[in-house]
Amino acid sequence: MDSPELSDEVKADVILRWETSVARANAFLLSEHNTLMPKGSYELLGSGLVFRTGAQDWEVTIRNTWFGDVVVASGYIAQERSWGFVVGEVGDGEDIVANSLFVNSLGSPRSADGMARLILHETAHQVFDVGTLDFTGTLHYYWYSLFENHSGHPDEEMPNAVSREFGQFSAQ
Ligand SMILES: [Zn+2]
Repeated sequence: MDSPELSDEVKADVILRWETSVARANAFLLSEHNTLMPKGSYELLGSGLVFRTGAQDWEVTIRNTWFGDVVVASGYIAQERSWGFVVGEVGDGEDIVANSLFVNSLGSPRSADGMARLILHETAHQVFDVGTLDFTGTLHYYWYSLFENHSGHPDEEMPNAVSREFGQFSAQ
């Protein structure tokens, strides 16, 4: 964010959307729409996000990486990791803002609710310990994707259910 390449307007826009997305995710977590995720809240730190439940804290760091570029090129938005999730390059400009957290696949700004939904989905992978969090999980995930003929990946069941609950909250 200290980059001289970033205009004050761009900085103000992404910071506002990120802060709003965290506030929206926190409002959802405390709402009646949330039946799956533990009651807790996100805190936005200089280094990224932390999801605190009282019983446990989860580091939710978001990184724009070469692997995120592969994920985005494959038609996905992000991929879960044990420490958060990776995003990839979308749109023009500096990597810190031109990525799939802040920009949707059409190249338009992702809404605060769209960002909240993404953050909650990826955190659900960590909370429910499903998906490509580590090497073994990644092997299992792709083994299943390659060799099991199934309409939905079982590792996406809980994260998708959390996404749906946030969708209902957002619509209301
Ligand atoms: Zn997922």
